[in-house]
Amino acid sequence: GATLGMLGGGQLGRMFTTAAQTMGYKVIVLDPDKNSPAGIIADQHICAAYTDEAALTELAQHCAAITTEFENIPASTLAFLEKRTVVHPSSSALASTQNRNTEKIFIRAQGIATVPFVRITSRDDFADISTQIKFPAILKVATFGYDGKGQIVCEDVQAAYEAFDALGQKECVLEQRIDLEREISVVLARGEDGQITAFPVAENVHINGILHSTTVPSAAAETQQQAAIEMAGKIADGLDYVGTMAVEFFVSKQGEIIANEIAPRPHNSGHYTLDACKTSQFEQQVRMLCGLPAGSSQLISPVVMINILGDVWGNSQPDWDKLLNQPDIKLHLYGKREARAGRKMGHFNVLADTTDLAMQSANTVFEDIKAD
Ligand code: ATP
Ligand code: MG
Ligand code: MG
Repeated sequence: GATLGMLGGGQLGRMFTTAAQTMGYKVIVLDPDKNSPAGIIADQHICAAYTDEAALTELAQHCAAITTEFENIPASTLAFLEKRTVVHPSSSALASTQNRNTEKIFIRAQGIATVPFVRITSRDDFADISTQIKFPAILKVATFGYDGKGQIVCEDVQAAYEAFDALGQKECVLEQRIDLEREISVVLARGEDGQITAFPVAENVHINGILHSTTVPSAAAETQQQAAIEMAGKIADGLDYVGTMAVEFFVSKQGEIIANEIAPRPHNSGHYTLDACKTSQFEQQVRMLCGLPAGSSQLISPVVMINILGDVWGNSQPDWDKLLNQPDIKLHLYGKREARAGRKMGHFNVLADTTDLAMQSANTVFEDIKAD
């Protein structure tokens, strides 16, 4: 098989690497960290900065096609590689998702709702803010935020001023806080021919801004799920996206479907596909990158996915036998050397006849490993 390139060595890159190697490809990972989860299992690890032109040239020389697992790779890096080999997603698709303000403007241009928001670049932008959005609101840094980092809830204008200072007066977006009925996401694969294969809608619970659990099938109304799939497809078309990507949605108490953000890569809420779908989101990423037909995204079983954060590690790793002894629970660890609070260390999928049963058994096991 050919050699594929992966920009970024995190867990998403690692699961791509495993899928690609299983399918007969070699993988070269570029990541500045010599202990990165993907780098340590790749056929070759180029340990260099994403802006290192000699390293990028070497990567392009060896790879039939290159993709990424990380939306904060400089778009200029992808543009550099695009002149030398096949790159998916494109530098322009990536660029559209790197700033929360331009991302929301792009989403609205596709005719899709976002939360009411105001771009903030200086203190002056708060002057007549109350005419534009209602408080409480959330101030978020426009770039490089993830897992709820760089976000401050503001009860009023005064708090928003203080939050802007606390975030270093960097470009921000002030978003109205929505009363959420639930959160859902759509992970999909789109090919060079524009054909879209969506996975079943995922229902997500976040704790402290970090994904905690994903349940599939979602309890959202069938019409809402269809609407979300349609919107995610429009966004993928608008980006002329090739690969696996995700769109996160809020469902408001009024039943409105509101796009939250785009992930130009496989998504944490798609990890359930590893055990519960005929094709995983990572196999799909390999397929799209290589111009192969998409695999079936059909759900095999109701499933609940639970993230394992560094918080549950304590002084040593939990007793994984508590999970491994259960035949319908599938453990996935990412090989990270250091456990920190809030850091994603792994996840597990629970398969059962119903999502209620899967959730019960997921909660029991999670409490059990937390108690270690
Ligand atoms: P990631 O990229 O890891 O998903 P992030 O740092 O980009 O996270 P967001 O998706 O912006 O964070 O927000 C994290 C969570 O915080 C959301 O999934 C939701 O639960 C809550 N949240 C964010 N913005 C809003 C909002 N405007 N109204 C209500 N809840 C919100
Ligand atoms: Mg995000
Ligand atoms: Mg998010």
